[in-house]
Amino acid sequence: MLGLGLLINLIVAWTLVLVPRLSAEAHLSVQQYLNPSYEGRYTSMYVAEQQWLGVHERQYYLTRRARTRPVKKRVSVYWTWLPWEKPVISMEEGNRLFEVFEPLNPDNAIISNVRVGFPVLTLESDLLIDDSAALANGSFATEARHGFIGRVDGSVGNFKPGVWSHAQHLLFPYRPIWTGLLINTGFYAVLTCCIAWLARHVRHSRRMHRGRCPICAYELQHDFRCGCSECGWRRVENRSRVE
Ligand SMILES: [Zn+2]
Repeated sequence: MLGLGLLINLIVAWTLVLVPRLSAEAHLSVQQYLNPSYEGRYTSMYVAEQQWLGVHERQYYLTRRARTRPVKKRVSVYWTWLPWEKPVISMEEGNRLFEVFEPLNPDNAIISNVRVGFPVLTLESDLLIDDSAALANGSFATEARHGFIGRVDGSVGNFKPGVWSHAQHLLFPYRPIWTGLLINTGFYAVLTCCIAWLARHVRHSRRMHRGRCPICAYELQHDFRCGCSECGWRRVENRSRVE
């Protein structure tokens, strides 16, 4: 049952990755922070959050100066969550990701951490899109860690900050968020058990309603007192009662 729960969890998460492709509309918030720690050259960092049902993307984008006013956070039905997560966004993850990817053009690289899962976020991947110039094949340079990124068309244009939805290009993220993985696996295992129990209960009561053995459907003509001669249902306890 746990294996089945895990399987359902993965299928749900990988299906939810497709949600940002279907709906470009997301719950979006953009904040700008002073970021003195990154080599001293880029004084600001944008942190953009985009959320869909079961998909959460955090983008980090370095800049030397303020370009837009921050967008206030809006309440949206597209919300998804980790129950233990602090609402405060930090630049530390952004700085860490820039160190991991070491982009050639830090000014033009947008790095994203995309997490997926329902009811709790369960898998994640880190993605980079460098939109300084389109490559010869007309796409932007991309890089993915623990996931796969599809083609990012260079003709789409540049709408910084924080509107390159990397989640729209992500496929099969596979780095587990362990607590989320455990919660979801347990959730789907219990759900599967409940549905299996309910299906069994319905099947048994329908057979008894038709006068048949609930276990093997053997015709008992509505006479359930002696149990079933075919599969032994209720036989053992009846015999001991007679003796
Ligand atoms: Zn039977």
